Amino acid sequence: MIKHCPTCNRTSDKTRFIGEFCEFCVTDRLRKHVPDIIKLSYCKRCGRIRIPGRHSEIDRMSLMSAIKMQLPKIKMESEVLSYDEKSANIEFMVAVPGGFAKFTKDIGLKMKHEICKDCLRKSSGYFEATVQLRGDAEVIQRVMRKLTTFLEERDAFVAKAEKVQGGWDIYTSDKRLTNVFFRLHELNPKKSYTLFTVREGKPVYRDTYAIRV
Ligand SMILES: [Zn+2]
Ligand SMILES: [Zn+2]
Repeated sequence: MIKHCPTCNRTSDKTRFIGEFCEFCVTDRLRKHVPDIIKLSYCKRCGRIRIPGRHSEIDRMSLMSAIKMQLPKIKMESEVLSYDEKSANIEFMVAVPGGFAKFTKDIGLKMKHEICKDCLRKSSGYFEATVQLRGDAEVIQRVMRKLTTFLEERDAFVAKAEKVQGGWDIYTSDKRLTNVFFRLHELNPKKSYTLFTVREGKPVYRDTYAIRV
């Protein structure tokens, strides 16, 4: 029996039906639930966007997770087909009574400029530990380069590097990672701790690691 779509009167001999409605009406209705414009939190310093839990470089994956944060909470599969700085073409697959509806939508992207936590920390001179490197100038340079790369690959950073008498003082943003670096390179620093501040009733220490190379 030929079905007639209650909304647009298309017939099932010419159009695919999903349940009682034609596929055009089903996808039109779903498409309206997807916002036309999505605001992305964009850090103008590092060019990354906010996704759940962190910031990331812009690519299909990160764009999709940033967009998903703002989509209605209906169960759907979605994929970025293409994108540029102004819009993203997204394909959606939604389970509806009577089958699956598949449609695409161009979503406008609006960049909301902010400064991410990492960039903010960098610019505020935030640091957790000072590494005092003393000894052979060439070895010091090598350790500094390796430490910088090591930290940056793990979302940490060198806040400041200062040339001092007999070597360099390196200020790092992450105590734990700095110590992992020492272990990996079999460096055995002499450690000392200075009370820096008290946060939520707990003392916060800044560590100093003295290393002779
Ligand atoms: Zn219809
Ligand atoms: Zn940033």
